[in-house]
Amino acid sequence: MRSLEKAITERGLVLSEGVLKVDTFLNHQIDPALMSEIGKEFAARFRRELITKVVTIESSGIAPALMTASELGVELIFARKKKSITMTDDVYTADVYSFTKQETNTITISKSLLTSTDRVLLIDDFLANGQAALGLASVIKQSGASIAGFGIVIEKSFQPGRQKLVDAGYRVESLARIETLSHSEVEFVKNEMA
Ligand code: 5GP
Repeated sequence: MRSLEKAITERGLVLSEGVLKVDTFLNHQIDPALMSEIGKEFAARFRRELITKVVTIESSGIAPALMTASELGVELIFARKKKSITMTDDVYTADVYSFTKQETNTITISKSLLTSTDRVLLIDDFLANGQAALGLASVIKQSGASIAGFGIVIEKSFQPGRQKLVDAGYRVESLARIETLSHSEVEFVKNEMA
């Protein structure tokens, strides 16, 4: 997606060969116009899947996931990273190691929010090693719901996350695919209709 690549190039910051900072439009400050465009793009790519729920992980997945859910006319569920005291009912859980925070969180979703008839689209801000995505998939599978695929805003294609998801049989749609972050510059995967 050209406008997303432009935002990454002009407003992102390469922190190291492995980490991109996008606090100006996605991870801290949020650009609503860009999120709206992202939501439209994910919705267009997955509309034929008859999605019934969009699911993400708090907090950075919520903005693009909400826009996608709004476009598809369905509800959004965000997995919590810490169990809330208001979560009195049973929950599905999975352990997720966070690449950026270097800690393991147990993510939870209330059992009451998902049923085996749901068709779920999973959205996340970044795909790196695939831990967050596989944790989300595990939580959904526990409910018996089916997974239509993953919508990823920024995929770091030089890390193994995409391959792990593809190997597990999932469809992966990434709006920006990064080939390298070498020399403090972002290089996108070429010949992609991203
Ligand atoms: P994974 O579980 O695929 O290794 O990493 C996915 C999660 O880690 C994302 O939800 C995102 O929060 C965070 N993450 C991974 N790589 C980056 C990065 O380069 N920049 C930022 N801002 N977050 C990242």
